[in-house]
Amino acid sequence: MKCMLTCGAGIMEYSEKERPAAGPGEAVIKVRAASVCGGDVTRYKSAPMKDVYVIPGHEFSGDIVEIRDGGERYAVGDRVCIFPNPYCGTCPECRAGRFNLCTHKKSIGNNGQNGPVDGGMAEYCKVPVRSLIKLDDSVSYEQGALVEPVAVGLHASRAAGDVRGQKVLVYGAGAIGLYTIMFLKMQGAERIYALDVLPEHLEMAERYGADCTMLCEGNFAERIREDSGCGIDIVFDTVCLPPSISATQKLLRGGGSSVWIAIRNMQQEINIFPTVFHEQKIFTSFIYYKSEMEEAAGMMGRGEINCEDTITDRVPLSQGKALFEDLVHNPGAHIKAQFRID
Ligand SMILES: [Zn+2]
Ligand SMILES: [Zn+2]
Repeated sequence: MKCMLTCGAGIMEYSEKERPAAGPGEAVIKVRAASVCGGDVTRYKSAPMKDVYVIPGHEFSGDIVEIRDGGERYAVGDRVCIFPNPYCGTCPECRAGRFNLCTHKKSIGNNGQNGPVDGGMAEYCKVPVRSLIKLDDSVSYEQGALVEPVAVGLHASRAAGDVRGQKVLVYGAGAIGLYTIMFLKMQGAERIYALDVLPEHLEMAERYGADCTMLCEGNFAERIREDSGCGIDIVFDTVCLPPSISATQKLLRGGGSSVWIAIRNMQQEINIFPTVFHEQKIFTSFIYYKSEMEEAAGMMGRGEINCEDTITDRVPLSQGKALFEDLVHNPGAHIKAQFRID
């Protein structure tokens, strides 16, 4: 079968690999749509997957073409999206309900702490039956391949507690920022601010529910503070780099909270003093629970949300190399890039 293959830092090949077969408790998916995640691009650039040939892709949808032990629930022909972080269910984190922190999880489309697992940027992908999430017939494969990142926004929107009546700000209006804004709106945030470096992204942020948008330039932090009265209650930071973290310290009211959603650069220097001096709280948000992906898929099926307008690219696998290069060099030109796989 055709696939994309990560072969080292900055090396991604359109390649061939043997089509997988389902073992006990597994299904094979004919992939129809696979989205590219910011994390895929970071791994492509820095390749912690080095020396390991892995098919990337953890945001995808398709049809079940083979299944073993599917029980009553799943059968060949079902349209599904994939929960890509199957957890063990028995470790202390799982027993505490923190399934996203399972110490044994083997992430699909990644070479994580528990070893490499091929992902969905391929014609076929093998997944555990417990990773299957059915899609309503009304949900396109393209939207099905957005369920995973949408669930990241859903999980993040809940990380600092109830947002009803709160003044919130979303830093970065890329895909995760937009989905977070959408859920903050649904959950009754009083006023939603959005920040980005690109006017096109801010236009989208307005469509997704932002009340006030601003470019990150000049004295934007002061202007937002002024508009909000006494500062923001909760900042949702999808950038998490020193400039956004230090601006957040200025944007937040005393005792306000920030939620760190994405960490791209593991080692960075920040001045923590303003956070302590104003008793600001830091929450973190990491991926989501399977139940949150099911919630997101359910909302799409009932037509309560539709995020297809965040898809900026639909390309065949054969153009994958060029797409990844463009995502590295022109990140602002894309929101969600997808592979269409026929
Ligand atoms: Zn992702
Ligand atoms: Zn576990």
